[in-house]
This record gives sequence, structure tokens and C-alpha cells, in this order.
Amino acid sequence: MSTAAYAPANVVRDLQELNALTGGPDGARRLAWTEDWVKARDFLRAKLDEIPGVTYEMDECGNIWATLPGARPEAVTVGSHVDAVPRGGWLDGVLGVMAGLEVLRSAAAAGTPPCTIKLVDWADEEGARFGRSLLGSSAFAGTLEIEDVREFTDKDGIRLDDALKAMGVDLAQAHLAKRRIEDVKAYLELHIEQGPVLESEGLAVGAVLGTVGVERYTVTFRGQAAHAGSTPMLQRKDTFSAAARFALLLRDVAIRHEGVSTIGNANCTPGVVTAVPGVTEILVDQRHIDADTLAAMNADARVAAQQAAEEFGCTVEWEQLWRIPPIPFDPALIEDARAAVREVTGTDRALPSGPLHDAAEMARMVPTVMLFASSINGLSHCIEEDTPEEHLLLAAEAFGIAVGRAIERVGKA
Ligand SMILES: [Zn+2]
Repeated sequence: MSTAAYAPANVVRDLQELNALTGGPDGARRLAWTEDWVKARDFLRAKLDEIPGVTYEMDECGNIWATLPGARPEAVTVGSHVDAVPRGGWLDGVLGVMAGLEVLRSAAAAGTPPCTIKLVDWADEEGARFGRSLLGSSAFAGTLEIEDVREFTDKDGIRLDDALKAMGVDLAQAHLAKRRIEDVKAYLELHIEQGPVLESEGLAVGAVLGTVGVERYTVTFRGQAAHAGSTPMLQRKDTFSAAARFALLLRDVAIRHEGVSTIGNANCTPGVVTAVPGVTEILVDQRHIDADTLAAMNADARVAAQQAAEEFGCTVEWEQLWRIPPIPFDPALIEDARAAVREVTGTDRALPSGPLHDAAEMARMVPTVMLFASSINGLSHCIEEDTPEEHLLLAAEAFGIAVGRAIERVGKA
């Protein structure tokens, strides 16, 4: 299929139109399961109505699927989410939906594509109202524990189950949605990076290797609470000093393994200025794209914690809060994406995704890849979220090329 008709300028125009409709001085207003979200989805439906041959429907999980039938039933699927966090940015999610819309528009204009093309708008990626991210895509993939979320309430006390039913979604039927995956042979998603890596390298767009694995713990240092005035420095069992030493060692571990680690909170007991803290509890988050390296990072961190504890006469315990393994994307599609990035920018750049995305749920079922567009100052989920227009155009262009390659391959298979 010729990709020459793919027009990045249309993607930017559609984004601007949607922003005029659902954005404003307070940022994006597309909170899932609200009137503004429906307005954004109606905008998408109206755009789909303009494309000859395209039909669409909402599945049992609330996701919208648009289909352009091709010469073969096997399908390439593109998509992302139109929902946003409150006071969110104008690009998160909708960039991928509008880039996907242009895939359908350009393919339809070029005649019958060699394979079927589908666009999906995942429902409630952000989880901003009820607290469960990736709701639509995880319900679709069958990884959502539906009984766990049914009773979730929003800040006004409205139950998730009731809010969804009001929008025509009965989660008891969610399992029926999955039949739509049957003919899907590839999934591609364009998204903003939401981090500073591409921008810092002066790059518009990069291929994404997968979503990183996460290890999350409470780490507790135990020593001895003692009087801040009467206890000499070298006779203390100061747990905050141990935790502080560990924090710097943890940083070194992350840098050495090219991963990331964060201590997001530290809590000292008794927590008064007149006592050496007898207990310090910290929250540790470690992430890496490679499972073995993540395991090595965690092993090194445990050694470092032990070392820091002993140095200050303390003990240390680890308690796991949550973990998820890395979800690597498909090697052949990553190659396509890298080639497309190279073609458009002259530089071959691939990077892991720190945030989770709907694509991580799709990657469990079908070959998947993402592309990232740069984010100014690495910001997202805020009104400052932006990408230089030139970068948006290049990112959409690379996405169009990568999707074109996937369509070609699936059309021939
Ligand atoms: Zn997003």
C-alpha cells in the first residue's frame, strides 16, 4: 500500500479542532465516563463518518472500534485513548487516536487496503475518575478483575458499575469483547513520551522497546530511638542516616544498570526533632526494561541496604508492595518502527516506556509496538503538556510509515 497519502498535517488539524472543543484555559476536559468525554468521542465518530467504507461500534468494555475492511480479514490495529486526566494536556492519548484516524482516512482514499485496518479508542486509560488505569484495554484483554473494581467510587460517591451502565457498558459482558482480537495481527500506537529523553537528544520521535518492569517495596530500617542531645554521634543507631546512605547507593545501582529507582517517601519514628529516629520506613520503586537486569538491580539494592544498615548499627527488612514484569514489544514491529524513525529523522532511536500504556495490554495478545513523540520539558498530565508542531508532524509521519509497513506485511501473509 502506498503511504504517500498519509498527511501528518491532518493529524495536527484534528488535534487542534478537538482541543478547541474539549480544551481551554483549564486544560483538557475529557475525563472518562463524563459528558465531555462523550463529546470528544462524538467528535471522533463524526470524523469517522466522513471516511467512506468505515464502520464503528462500541464493544462490551466501552472501547470504540472502527473498521476499514481490506482485501483480507487479517487486520492491523492502531489506537490510543481520548480520555484525559482532569486539567490534562491536549496530546496525551488523542495524538494516537488522531494519528490512527489519518491511517483510516489515507488508506480509504487509496482504495481497498491489502488487509483490514482497525482503529480503537480505549475507554478510560487514565483511571482518573475511579482509580483503575487501563480499564478498557485490561477488561478487553481479560486481565481486569471485574469484581474488584465494580464497587470503586468517584469523589462524589458514584459507583463505577453505575457510571458505566449509564454509558451502556455492562462489565459482566466484558469477556465478549475479546472476539475482536481474532483477526488482529499487529497493534501500533503513537503516544507522547511524557518524559524528557527525546527532547534532551533533540529528537522528534523514537521507537519504543516495551514497557518497563516495576518492583515496589516498603523498606524498613530499625535501630534505636534515643535522645538527640545526650547520644554521641558514634554511639547512635540512626535509621534515617542508614536510609539516607542507602538512597545514594540505590541511585548508583540504578545508574550502573541504566534503569531508574525512586524513594518516593520516608517516614521517621518517633518523628520529632529531639530524638534519633529508631525506625525509618521508605518507599522504593525500581524499573527496568529487561527482567534479568531488573532482578540484578533489586539484588544489588538489597546488598546496598544491608551495607547501609550495618554501617549505622541498624537492621533492614523488605516488604513487596507490587510488581509487574517488563512487557517487551514485538522485535519485527520494533524494527519497522526504528526504520520509520530513521527515514524521517535520520537517527535511529529506541527507548523503553516508563509509564504503562494500553499497548502493554495488547502486547500480551498480539505483536505490538509504540512510537513516542517528544514532550517539551518532559511534562504531561498538566496544562503545560506540549510538543513542538514540527515534532508532531515528524512523529505522525514516522507512525504512518511504520503502520504502512505492517499493513504491507499482514496483507501479504
Ligand atoms: Zn496516555
